[in-house]
Amino acid sequence: MGLGRLALTEILPAFGKSKHARPVALVSGDADKMSKVAQQYGIKASSCYSYQTYDNLKNNPEVEVIYIVLPNALHHEYTLRGARAGKHILCEKPMATSVKECEEMIAACQKAGKKLMIAYRIQYEPLNRMAQKAVREKTYGTTKLIQMMNCQNEAHDQQWRHKKALAGGGSLPDVGLYCLNTTRFLLGEEPTEVSAQIYSTPGDDRFKEIEENVSFTLRFPSGVISQCISGYGTFNAKSYAVHAETGTIKMDPAFSYNGLAQEREHAPGGKQTTEKPSNPGKDQFALEMDHMAECVRQNKTPYTPAKKAFRTSALWKLSISRPKKTGP
Ligand code: NDP
Repeated sequence: MGLGRLALTEILPAFGKSKHARPVALVSGDADKMSKVAQQYGIKASSCYSYQTYDNLKNNPEVEVIYIVLPNALHHEYTLRGARAGKHILCEKPMATSVKECEEMIAACQKAGKKLMIAYRIQYEPLNRMAQKAVREKTYGTTKLIQMMNCQNEAHDQQWRHKKALAGGGSLPDVGLYCLNTTRFLLGEEPTEVSAQIYSTPGDDRFKEIEENVSFTLRFPSGVISQCISGYGTFNAKSYAVHAETGTIKMDPAFSYNGLAQEREHAPGGKQTTEKPSNPGKDQFALEMDHMAECVRQNKTPYTPAKKAFRTSALWKLSISRPKKTGP
């Protein structure tokens, strides 16, 4: 649903690598574009819907899951309507633009007896999962500090991303969300303290309504401190480093679609060593869609369920709306 950049360049092609999912219907506001895409992917004209006819999906038994790839503020409405149409929902990040919307999305899917998974692709990606295993198993002892950054120079033509009403916020809920979620994913803990600083370049039209740069610090019950930055006005920087007692795990890039790389530095027997685990090169979107399909088939709760995403929304709202507040 929503034939924009992500759907056309990443998600639809990823079906080719998926083992358990295939595209059987489309939803778009642009009938000509949808017709071309439908022909390309062998989708019947009768399975092409507009935003107005979306609810008719209830009469299409071929559709089991709706993958919502719309601007952030629209995730809420189309999840509610999709659940009412009796479909499971895979929704792009960020889940929604307010805590209340998240609560309503969870309630609607529960009421309909349908699953609601949020598309945190990084949590299905093999190198990030290897990093998680090493952290959780204390391969290099106790983790003490984490640094994460996800920055990009947001194009001037990304209209909806610069509108608070459609995006909900700026770099934080879009790319900064990866820092927040990946820290929680690695540690398996929830932060007890969040503080943040925000800065937007004066006079830059992109940042009249939404924030450009956010630096935020999370403190966890185990004592880990994670220092994160998200930016909308710099060259790509998408990396992290986990500093533990006897080793460091670095991912650079950590959050891109392809070409992720990991390095581990430690000193076994006193000898400084760098290891570079090989990247299995799996398509993150195919892994994520296959997981959703398996959860539907086997009636399991997704690894990234709405309830976890709901906490993310609550945290970024907290850090952006009350940047001066500290303490649990
Ligand atoms: P685009 O702007 O490229 O596409 C969004 C599509 O939504 C449009 O093409 C349009 O599709 C549809 N749409 C419906 N109403 C509107 C509206 N009022 N304004 C603009 N578009 C509208 O966005 P992206 O594909 O980059 O992002 C879509 C979602 O995916 C966002 O939630 C974003 O956060 C998420 N995302 C996730 C990524 C990831 O790595 N997981 C990466 C990039 C984005 P149509 O013409 O078919 O109606």
